[in-house]
Amino acid sequence: MTSAETPVLILLGPPGAGKGTQARMLEEEQGLVQLSTGDMLRAAVAQGTPAGLAAKAVMEAGALVSDEIVLAILQERMAQPDCARGIILDGFPRTDGQAAALEQLLADQGLRITAAVSLEVDDEAMVGRVSGRYSCAKCGEGYHDSFRQPAHAGTCDKCGASEMKRRADDNATTVRERLKAYHAQTAPLIAFYEAKGVLQRIDAMAAIDEVRSALGRVIGRVAV
Ligand code: AMP
Repeated sequence: MTSAETPVLILLGPPGAGKGTQARMLEEEQGLVQLSTGDMLRAAVAQGTPAGLAAKAVMEAGALVSDEIVLAILQERMAQPDCARGIILDGFPRTDGQAAALEQLLADQGLRITAAVSLEVDDEAMVGRVSGRYSCAKCGEGYHDSFRQPAHAGTCDKCGASEMKRRADDNATTVRERLKAYHAQTAPLIAFYEAKGVLQRIDAMAAIDEVRSALGRVIGRVAV
């Protein structure tokens, strides 16, 4: 990456808040690169890498993977040239240690945080949102048992593929553990970014398109 003008957005919020959905839309609409540490870890698990083997049980329990593993995986991805377009950090940082490491990582590359956006939601609603969700195995388009079914059952509206997948940790028991981890370890970062003057709050109980517009306004305001 190159300069302080390169957009660096952080999306904060509990599981189900819509970080991934909004990051994908920002990627498509604004040309930024979505960096989801959850996606990177799931890929490492699927490939059976040492990091993936270490992370698998932790993820299935709904706890946080060690800072060491997550930072190594993120740092490698951030070194790739496409990140020069600007990045959306989706699900990172999640601990004080990760936030401190990110400061250093960005400073080393002459970058700074454009905005940290807190997607504010109601916890109980998140259990329902996350438990029913699934996605297209090919293009990643998101669906939900109750809120958003494809027009033809089992066929992706976007790319026509017929294989859908569900995450192993998207069940009610694990979601509650993930919510606990969020409140204990990640929510304190909201105050950290507020003190730095880069925090923006968005009501993410609103419809996806409303959240997307609010996010667009935040980004417009911070000159992406
Ligand atoms: P996500 O896809 O962001 O919901 O992440 C799924 C799971 O991956 C989390 O419940 C954690 O176990 C792990 N994970 C993802 N990102 C991080 C991170 N930044 N720090 C620690 N664990 C993470």
